[in-house]
Amino acid sequence: MKLILLGIQGSGKSTQGSLLKKKLGLEYLSTGHIFRDIAKEVTPLGRKIKETMNAGYLIPDKQTLKIVSEYLKRPEYEKGYILDGFPRTVKQAETFQNGIDKVIYLNVTDKEALWRLSFRNNDDAREDESLAAIRKRIMLYHKYTDPVLGFYKKQGKLIEVDGEKKITDIHKEIIAKLGIKNHKK
Ligand code: AMP
Repeated sequence: MKLILLGIQGSGKSTQGSLLKKKLGLEYLSTGHIFRDIAKEVTPLGRKIKETMNAGYLIPDKQTLKIVSEYLKRPEYEKGYILDGFPRTVKQAETFQNGIDKVIYLNVTDKEALWRLSFRNNDDAREDESLAAIRKRIMLYHKYTDPVLGFYKKQGKLIEVDGEKKITDIHKEIIAKLGIKNHKK
């Protein structure tokens, strides 16, 4: 099964992604993690990605698509995966035609996401999480990623869940909406 998790930063994508990974035995891949790893490299690409992320901007579509396709060629992703943070633009969604089964949208308000992020403990704090960068990212999310929801809705692939409920309830709702009963790995 190939799943996509969509939602603004702070909507609980990585929490739900790791629960789904456990439940469904699928690989989990987050483009945010990938880019944070590349940003640590002392290379021109690493520096560029770091600057872009820290300013709260999106990595250009062409570069993102190239990096994601390279990762997904690895044998561990052959059977399926949960993608978190990608696609972020309609261009990415249109170009990435990989037999996606369902797209899970964790719906939380901007206010709730901002509140959650400001309470992330220091161990989890990220360099790209200054308040200004977060606000810019939320603004960019609405501009570029909201239309991605419509793209998948038209294809009948969108599953919308209320991301403000309890973590376990959200997980149960996702499993139910995926039509999974006693899924075994
Ligand atoms: P995230 O952890 O998903 O919030 O991603 C952190 C940062 O990585 C984003 O603010 C972007 O700069 C970059 N990024 C992650 N996924 C994408 C994507 N699909 N397209 C462009 N940039 C991305």
